[in-house]
Amino acid sequence: MDWGRLENDIKVAIASKQKISFLVGAGLSAESGIPTFRGKDGFWKVGSKNYQPEEIGTYRMFCLNSEEVWKWFLFRKTICKNAQPNEGHLALVEIEGLLNDQFALITQNVDGLHKKAGNSLERTYYVHGDLDFVRCGDECTSNLYPFPQGISDKKRGDRITEQEQKLLKCPNCGEDLRPHVLWFDETYNEKYYKFQTVRDIADNTALLFIIGTSGATYLPTEFVDRVSFFNGGIVDINLDDNNFTEFIKSYDKGYLVRDSSSQVLLKIVELMKKMITPGKK
Ligand SMILES: [Zn+2]
Repeated sequence: MDWGRLENDIKVAIASKQKISFLVGAGLSAESGIPTFRGKDGFWKVGSKNYQPEEIGTYRMFCLNSEEVWKWFLFRKTICKNAQPNEGHLALVEIEGLLNDQFALITQNVDGLHKKAGNSLERTYYVHGDLDFVRCGDECTSNLYPFPQGISDKKRGDRITEQEQKLLKCPNCGEDLRPHVLWFDETYNEKYYKFQTVRDIADNTALLFIIGTSGATYLPTEFVDRVSFFNGGIVDINLDDNNFTEFIKSYDKGYLVRDSSSQVLLKIVELMKKMITPGKK
């Protein structure tokens, strides 16, 4: 890893006035104790059957058994609600303060930790949605509602009370509300997930930092393709090699950093601070 070369590329990117984008995945929130909900601990038991997130986190399952899908989401939401942002999240807030409108945060994390840390809503793109919001499961409107007050923390196996069931009904039509997240059997769109806006940001990105995401889903892959098409720099910060590694190794503006995302982000904050005085940009 050639930090001198990266320092120079950061300088060039800042001078370009184009975006410096951060594409973030579960690896960042893992340092706050939030599991990925995939892999060996990701199962969810209904009766005697174990379901994987790819089965329970679907529109199909919501139509079959909305209560069970909500139990799973309330369990996840409880973990997220009680988690705290880590140094990596806080570093992203500092970087936003330095870069202002050049900053774009594209996150796959629905846990709300960017908001808790202090990133602005205007420059954060929740491409997989946000557990702090709900919307009508029947789409009577496309309104987003804040997550209802009065629902208690849930562990595995906890029931949803009758009173809580009522809070999970659409205030407009009375059908079930759903979490405002992209399910495994759904596709990205502009209306809820700002898909086209995020593509446009990719086309205008001079330097991209990939943080804690393996590129297993479609959007990160497309984002990287677009940034490289326009010859932007790409820095892959992940603990392990992933779907992007081979490409980045062969890309002349690519960087591979194999370290904890929070530690690397702190280093990037220091580099940027040397180049920019806050408020004077
Ligand atoms: Zn409704």
